[in-house]
Amino acid sequence: MLTTQELQSSFDIAETEQEASAAITTLAQWTHLNKGKVIFNEYYRLASYLPLRERKNIERTATKARESIPVSLRTILRNIYKGHCQICDFWFLKKDKDPYFEIHHLDSSKGHHPKNVLVVCGNCHNQFEHANVEQEFTEDLWLVKVSFNKIMHIVKQAFFYQKDRRFFQRTIYITSIYILSYRGKSALLTKKTF
Ligand SMILES: [Zn+2]
Repeated sequence: MLTTQELQSSFDIAETEQEASAAITTLAQWTHLNKGKVIFNEYYRLASYLPLRERKNIERTATKARESIPVSLRTILRNIYKGHCQICDFWFLKKDKDPYFEIHHLDSSKGHHPKNVLVVCGNCHNQFEHANVEQEFTEDLWLVKVSFNKIMHIVKQAFFYQKDRRFFQRTIYITSIYILSYRGKSALLTKKTF
């Protein structure tokens, strides 16, 4: 014969959300309460009786990770965008006064070409990963518009800034160097130039 406590411990040691949901269903049947009530009961039980202790460190064996963006391109993007999200413009400074930003690769299997990387905030990065995303590119494959769940945003691409001509030319120059190295022709040139 099962006891409520035993059912609760099987809930506590569930390893997947499916197992935890199944344990909630069993608890609800056992206690003749509805699931919503059981969930709140369990929540209060955990809040009241679970000791507040140090979070354990878990050792993870490295899974396949893609190479990170070269420091050179990251530095360029930091200087151009100063941490401003290319989608929504959100930005903030970290404790060390450096702007925080994340890099999104439009095609995760492609390399670190400026056309393939965007400076984004955490929120937009998550929307790229999880929302319904529609993208619009120029003929030469610069992303210019993106919609997250049908809400459209214009993508700020420094490549198209023309107000400051010098800045614009510099951007083209830097970009053309990257196109060369992207084709695998001139890694050395890239290194030398930066
Ligand atoms: Zn954003």
